[in-house]
Amino acid sequence: MSQPPVRGRFAPTPSGLMHIGNMRTALLAWLQVRSAGGQFVLRMEDIDKPRCRPELAEQALADLRWLGLDWDEGPDIGGPFASYVQSERESFYHEALEKLKEEGRLYPCFCSRAELLMVASAPHGLSSEGPVYPGTCRMLTEEQREERRKDKTPSLRIAAPSHDICFDDLAAGPQRFPSSSGGDFVVRRADGIISYQLAVSVDDAAMGITDVLRGYDLLDSTPRQLLLYETLGLTAPRFAHVPLLLGEDGKRLAKRHGGMAIAAMRANGIRAEYIVGWIAAHSGLLDRPEPVRPDELVELFRLDRIPKEPITVTDAMLRQLTG
Ligand code: GLU
Repeated sequence: MSQPPVRGRFAPTPSGLMHIGNMRTALLAWLQVRSAGGQFVLRMEDIDKPRCRPELAEQALADLRWLGLDWDEGPDIGGPFASYVQSERESFYHEALEKLKEEGRLYPCFCSRAELLMVASAPHGLSSEGPVYPGTCRMLTEEQREERRKDKTPSLRIAAPSHDICFDDLAAGPQRFPSSSGGDFVVRRADGIISYQLAVSVDDAAMGITDVLRGYDLLDSTPRQLLLYETLGLTAPRFAHVPLLLGEDGKRLAKRHGGMAIAAMRANGIRAEYIVGWIAAHSGLLDRPEPVRPDELVELFRLDRIPKEPITVTDAMLRQLTG
């Protein structure tokens, strides 16, 4: 049987400017797809509307294009699975919620933020999402739920299974997440906002995504997404979680690391080819930073060339960017 075409995606959240860290993820995801002759999808993950801004979504598209990336489907060009903007896809998420409800997997959770913070010192927990939920509201009776609903709108949680979740990560290797590591997680917040976990799984499945390449910080979200795929009867993609670029403080590169925003680099006259070459050199694709276009890297891309450890970006490394 012939394999379906490779379909990958980049899915930025327009809550901040694109910086060299998420640009690297975009470039590597694009290279993975282009080197396999596949289709690349751009999806705007603005489901958490209060945190997102339309002008940042516009800026992200402009930054990606300026760097030399292109996409076959996306918010600006449409495609067979439109819309490519999460805030326009809410009916799909509500359908999925209904299905989870029918499967008997959801329950309302009335715990406050303060109560959840009290379990913050629990030994396990998702780095991307905080501590494991101890299951406080899982056992409430229908009467207790009705009583609580009078003073509080609940969030909705999915009951996690009691078995371990295992998968082979194409970059990080074989993974095993014990049943105790994830806990029951929120699929719809009390304010009605659909969780990242649900939206991303529904969308990747609906858009026929076969390969997800993203940062290592989302590795521990993957068992949750696999659980959603399984419960919703959807086909899961393959995953590759690549080590992150870190700031000198050891934290994931972000806005607080000034000067890393692509728009700022562009305004300072740094050429796109220098940024691409810099990323390629620090991703095992070139021996040293030299100006290059993304399409010149397609032949060189191999997942196993990407270093296995996170990279701390020093000032000296950043100076390489100015040529
Ligand atoms: N929207 C997420 C972010 O910007 C990425 C989601 C994903 O790649 O699964 O962090």
